[in-house]
Amino acid sequence: MHKNNHRIHSEQVTKATEAALARRGVTIKEIAELVHEMQKPYNVGLTLEHCIKSVERVLRKREVQHAVLVGVELDELAEKKMLSEPLQSIIENDEGLFGVDETIALGAVFTYGSIAVTTFGHLDKKKIGIIEKLDTKAGNGIHTFLDDLVSSIAACAAARIAHTMRDLEEEDETFLDVPPSALGPDDKPENNI
Ligand code: MG
Repeated sequence: MHKNNHRIHSEQVTKATEAALARRGVTIKEIAELVHEMQKPYNVGLTLEHCIKSVERVLRKREVQHAVLVGVELDELAEKKMLSEPLQSIIENDEGLFGVDETIALGAVFTYGSIAVTTFGHLDKKKIGIIEKLDTKAGNGIHTFLDDLVSSIAACAAARIAHTMRDLEEEDETFLDVPPSALGPDDKPENNI
């Protein structure tokens, strides 16, 4: 038996992740706005552009990409009524005790450390901005997984900003000294913070 050499190229996974979010009506800018709102009070000179670059960087991370692909797929299958019962009804109704939506999103958050985890919890409770718009119970489509995924991406991007801020403080600098492009994606997939 030959080993399966048809490995999926990371660029393909990145594109699929971006396409999944776009298809579900979520823009990088909207996620970045959550990050900006949360981090602005603590970070002198932090702009929306810095936050957009941080979100773009988070979206290059494999754990995050895989979580987005799994979650969005399940939301879409539920909208098409293609899941078997009782899972179809549980996801369709965003059943309060389900919890797998949070668990998948939280898995992606762990790689960004404790600040990301607590920020994720904060967003899960507060449901601000785009997250509030995505509430399945508000009746516009099924976003049982998507709201948690967006919280996860925003929490990771906010944690990156907080860690960058500490590095800047140690150099007697602020975000005023950092061009947004310095926080943006490299050519390679992101494997570190
Ligand atoms: Mg949810």
